[in-house]
Amino acid sequence: MESRVSPQAPGAHLPDHPDFLWRNPEPKRSYDVVIIGGGGHGLATAHYLVRNHGITNVAVLEKGWLAGGNMARNTTIIRSNYLWDESAGIYEHALKLWEGLAEELDYPILFSQRGVLNLAHSLQDVRDSVRRVEANRLNGVDAEYLDAEQVKEVCPIVNISQDVRYPVLGATYQPRAGIAKHDHVAWGLARSADAAGIDIIQNCEVTGLDVVGNRVVGVQTNLGPIAAGKVALCSAGHTSVLAAMAGIELPVQSHPLQALVSELLEPVHPTVVMSNAVHVYVSQAHKGELVMGAGIDAYNGYGQRGSFHVIEHQLAAAIELFPMFANAALLRTWGGIVDVCPDASPILSRTPVENLFLNCGWGTGGFKATPASGWVFADLIANGEPGPLARPFALDRFVSGALIDEHGAAGVAH
Ligand SMILES: Cc1cc2nc3c(=O)[nH]c(=O)nc-3n(C[C@H](O)[C@H](O)[C@H](O)COP(=O)(O)OP(=O)(O)OC[C@H]3O[C@@H](n4cnc5c(N)ncnc54)[C@H](O)[C@@H]3O)c2cc1C
Repeated sequence: MESRVSPQAPGAHLPDHPDFLWRNPEPKRSYDVVIIGGGGHGLATAHYLVRNHGITNVAVLEKGWLAGGNMARNTTIIRSNYLWDESAGIYEHALKLWEGLAEELDYPILFSQRGVLNLAHSLQDVRDSVRRVEANRLNGVDAEYLDAEQVKEVCPIVNISQDVRYPVLGATYQPRAGIAKHDHVAWGLARSADAAGIDIIQNCEVTGLDVVGNRVVGVQTNLGPIAAGKVALCSAGHTSVLAAMAGIELPVQSHPLQALVSELLEPVHPTVVMSNAVHVYVSQAHKGELVMGAGIDAYNGYGQRGSFHVIEHQLAAAIELFPMFANAALLRTWGGIVDVCPDASPILSRTPVENLFLNCGWGTGGFKATPASGWVFADLIANGEPGPLARPFALDRFVSGALIDEHGAAGVAH
């Protein structure tokens, strides 16, 4: 007997199922494609397998609840101002998709293009920022360099006093960047995939990959074995664990990454401010909470929580940049598990095992890529070959040395 899942989003309904956004089906014995991971990337892959390739005999297997991983734990910053051409290609493709995603999904995702400032606090920061703005412009990405006074015009509450440990000297500014509502994005993608007949199966943990010869033919789960023509890993912080089930060792490390929110406030913060040097970034959510994050906790781990000293450091930095936040009460903290590659860029790739595909390594910054990641990964799965946007992100770059080092543009930042 099939049940359907509660919408959780008041006012958003499937036309023929007024109370539910997606079914809650039992798994079938076999699918053309099994996607492991019901976060943003798995759901976007399912959505674009249907939309771009007409492939519908697909299951998304999620060990917990839909979007219970990083998807609904992230701080939702969306931007495309990365340094290298390869990154600009995929993140700008994502930003263009975000600009039409609410219409595409016919679902409110609250995408707000309020701009993102990346602050510069030293002469070297300024030089790196100007270099990045120039690289962005060459790639058709909107980018400006602002001095401290211009930063203050965009974000009046930022402290531009030069009498602090890390004075604001200027910032890169991407006006088309912004935030979206992460859980709405997941629900909209799930609703779209479900409506096309894709099975989204929650509480279904993959415990093994069935490999015969050198080809994956299915998965073992707590709900029994499921045969698969192709298997796609979209499991973020657990991807290296799953790949190891097929004997593949990935150059990916899993770390806790924390975030926190304040109590609800009146609108005070009109944009998104990020600082790699002081290790904090802040936006104000649609409901009114100040949303703040920092860098990863340094150790490896699979716990969805982090260390207290990281939050302490993050709040000290936030208060130096925004003295008025000293009066705000902290409402909630949490953590996710991010999958970090040595060059701070993702992996979109075939693997040494036939019909097993990888989408991981997005680290601290994969939310913004969600639609493009799904788009190019669906293309890779459907055609068996990467398209031009995915090709540079293949696993073989760790052998050839053609790394895409985005530490400067990804860094602490998301
Ligand atoms: C605190 C925090 C802040 C962040 N801020 C930003 C930001 O501002 N901007 C940005 O662009 N990015 C940000 N990120 C990064 C972003 O959230 C991730 O890169 C992105 O969400 C990863 O893709 P996903 O949504 O598919 O991952 P997830 O939502 O984690 O999906 C992976 C899913 O796989 C499931 N899974 C794992 N193992 C199994 C198994 N064996 N069987 C079945 N299912 C399994 C998990 O339960 C999980 O639901 C942030 C991350 C965190 C943690």
